[in-house]
Amino acid sequence: MTQKKLEANKTIALVAHDHRKDDLIKWAAANKAALAQHHLMATGTTGRLIEEQLQLPVQKLLSGPLGGDQQIGALIAQGEIDVLIFFWDPMEAQPHDPDVKALLRVGIVWNIPMACDVATADFLISSPYMNGTYTAALTDYDEYKNRKL
Ligand code: PGA
Repeated sequence: MTQKKLEANKTIALVAHDHRKDDLIKWAAANKAALAQHHLMATGTTGRLIEEQLQLPVQKLLSGPLGGDQQIGALIAQGEIDVLIFFWDPMEAQPHDPDVKALLRVGIVWNIPMACDVATADFLISSPYMNGTYTAALTDYDEYKNRKL
């Protein structure tokens, strides 16, 4: 096992599919003071809405279907995102469904705290780890990387 230390000031990525954007904006508004303590990143449209409606600074990536989910996944793999709030739509297929699956998968590969619904997001944001440090256990992939082919 290797480890990754999450600092008190975290980078939080926010993503919401169109039918879940209202839920995310409402949740973010209710937790604006807590979110303001951290560096926020988001897919393009989600980020724009948060900036417009909450007046919080957000580092915006591409829109999800245009590659934004993949950008967030890459940043997770590089260790640059600590927490993912991802309100994906359970009722409708997305044009970028493979990217959605890939993002959720890479979040697990790197043991990122991920919330996909309001209840889990509430638990996450109220955790003492959110404003404190946390040592995440990372699976040691050396055996995989050094495998004989
Ligand atoms: P959006 O992307 O914030 O640009 O709408 C979200 C998504 O569909 O992944």
